[in-house]
Amino acid sequence: MVLVGAAILVAYHDESSAAPSPAPSSITAPPLSPRPPARLSGEEDGVVPPGVTIFEDEYPAVAKLSPDLRRALRSAAADASKDGVTLLVKSGWRSRAYQNELLREAVSKYGSVARAARWVATADTSPHVSGDAVDVGPSSAAAWLAKHGATYGLCQIYRNEPWHYELRLQATDRGCPPLYADPTRDPRMH
Ligand SMILES: [Zn+2]
Repeated sequence: MVLVGAAILVAYHDESSAAPSPAPSSITAPPLSPRPPARLSGEEDGVVPPGVTIFEDEYPAVAKLSPDLRRALRSAAADASKDGVTLLVKSGWRSRAYQNELLREAVSKYGSVARAARWVATADTSPHVSGDAVDVGPSSAAAWLAKHGATYGLCQIYRNEPWHYELRLQATDRGCPPLYADPTRDPRMH
């Protein structure tokens, strides 16, 4: 038995050492790409993996949206799909921890709290944290909502964020309110 085992081991070693090693030219290092810092937040904080729709409420980002906003988005998404447009949820509800993480990232990206405020709100002011905002994608879906969203009470709020939508029920009668240039112009942010 011992000999058989040893023979197998020898055979194994022989085989592996005899295996042709790849020619140096075939070893190519993967291109170096800037890697974003590791995300601390997870799906339970509202992180959304690629390709999630407004119908998938197993994701907290979708499930914890305000019911009225989710309902409006679902009926818009259903009609958009008839036009061949898929409406994806890039971001929806976010935990305070996730919002704070995004804010920290924005501050390091844009260099100051003041500049970051043009793009990312604090946990106290973000409508994502209260479940009242969604970031849609791809750009074809944002374009579809820009054209048809008011019918559902769905409005773009900030000129610099064509993907960010909130519910403005009066929009179904009166159209969407004028856009703020960016979140720093929104009184809710102060
Ligand atoms: Zn947003």
